Amino acid sequence: MAPDAASTAPASEALDRIKSIVGDKGWSAAPDDQAPLLTDWRGHFSGQCALLVRPASTEETAQVMTVCAEYGIAVVPQGGNTSMCAAATPQPHGHEILLNMGRMNAIRDVDPLNYTVTVEAGCILQDIQAASAEADRLFPLSLGAEGSCQIGGNLSTNAGGVNVLRYGNARDLVLGLEVVLPSGQVWNGLRRLRKDNTGYDLKHLFVGSEGTLGVITAAVLKLFPLPKDVQTCFAAVRDLDAVIELLARAREASGDAVSSFEMIGRFGIDLAIKHISGITDPLQERNDLYALIEFSGARADSGMAGNMEAFLETAFEDGLVLDATIAQSDAQRGNFWKIREGITEAQAVEGGSIKHDIAVPVSRVPDLVRTATQAVVDFMPGIRPCCFGHVGDGNLHFNFSQPPEMEKKAFLEHWHDVNRIVHDIVVEMGGSISAEHGIGQLKRDELHHYKPDLDLDLMRRIKAAIDPKGLMNPGKML
Ligand SMILES: Cc1cc2nc3c(=O)[nH]c(=O)nc-3n(C[C@H](O)[C@H](O)[C@H](O)COP(=O)(O)OP(=O)(O)OC[C@H]3O[C@@H](n4cnc5c(N)ncnc54)[C@H](O)[C@@H]3O)c2cc1C
Repeated sequence: MAPDAASTAPASEALDRIKSIVGDKGWSAAPDDQAPLLTDWRGHFSGQCALLVRPASTEETAQVMTVCAEYGIAVVPQGGNTSMCAAATPQPHGHEILLNMGRMNAIRDVDPLNYTVTVEAGCILQDIQAASAEADRLFPLSLGAEGSCQIGGNLSTNAGGVNVLRYGNARDLVLGLEVVLPSGQVWNGLRRLRKDNTGYDLKHLFVGSEGTLGVITAAVLKLFPLPKDVQTCFAAVRDLDAVIELLARAREASGDAVSSFEMIGRFGIDLAIKHISGITDPLQERNDLYALIEFSGARADSGMAGNMEAFLETAFEDGLVLDATIAQSDAQRGNFWKIREGITEAQAVEGGSIKHDIAVPVSRVPDLVRTATQAVVDFMPGIRPCCFGHVGDGNLHFNFSQPPEMEKKAFLEHWHDVNRIVHDIVVEMGGSISAEHGIGQLKRDELHHYKPDLDLDLMRRIKAAIDPKGLMNPGKML
């Protein structure tokens, strides 16, 4: 076990040294500045910090970490604070430093010929997408929080999102990293290479490590040709088996150019229309299950419109698709995506929700959804299943909204019981209890329940080797 660096409050002389390293703009002890950063996005976890620190450079970050190492001060790295598992929320005792990376937001270099962009960790994801598009390139990582999450957070959580099927998750999109280690040393792994077999690939230790091994300060990311031919459809689908059949057919029909394949249940659409302004129902008839499908080709004449029409026509004839519409404008496409991206927010407005971010092999999705839905409904009649997500990756946000007549607090007290029902089924099917959101504080006990002892032992040994004093994000993941 790593020692608990957060067991005592930091010495005031250490905090003074940190303040002088980052200067007046780089720290705050004001409750108003700190408050929004001390509670997680879902509002389930709150903490305190000894000081909010906002370094402006790798050098400042390294000097801050050097002081923390000297005095044994624990550090919580934070990006946009959109974690779904309270991974960036400090603990309630207030002994940790909250290291918010938002000021390190420079795009250092866009290299269209090497198809790479080099960015600082605090860059907002949407800004990286925009800078890449200006150079006629695509940075494909895309998710609902892209207007506020930061690339350092995306990499630290190995974020997924809506384009994983085609381009992979954050881990697949990174070529190099710069990391400040718990000792204060700077590890310069900012390589722009696609091939480099010179021993252990150290960057992958930090990707998905949720701030428990070091502070990511910069990254080299992969770019792709900017798609010029994007076709998006919203289809009512016969049933779960048809969704999976449709996915396989879409890959063939598009020449493996499916960039997104999302599944949405009717309840999710109803919630989005009810709680998010400016959304309209894409199809006239009500159905139970829908797919949002996008084909994208790099050339303007890639023929995706014809591919999508032919694909839908055959699926309609074979009874897989009951109704469908292809977006004819950016506004219509935007409406489809607003429904999909709005469900998370709409569910929060609707009341209590118990959530699961699970993955199983794609072919097991229908079995999983049927079995787990039935088991949870048997446990709590009246609970409202809200299942949607990246079915193309076998990853579902398998959520449940509270029965309308139940108190939110009473409902959320069943969080653990419902999780256990669903996660037991997921694990039995060879799946994952956290496909893309990570572990943080929320799923730490679940991780320890399901992960094999040897896996946990290896993780602890890596942690002890890189962070022997246990300074980095204590209480998260391990
Ligand atoms: C509406 C909404 C939709 C979402 N959709 C998706 C989705 O489709 N797919 C998906 O994968 N996720 C999704 N998420 C959650 C997702 O994990 C985050 O949006 C994002 O990846 C976290 O980035 P962040 O900058 O907010 O990180 P934070 O929440 O601030 O931090 C997350 C973790 O990373 C660590 N961290 C942050 N920055 C650094 C750094 N520079 N160095 C070291 N550690 C660091 C923190 O300590 C913490 O452990 C969604 C969230 C919201 C609110």
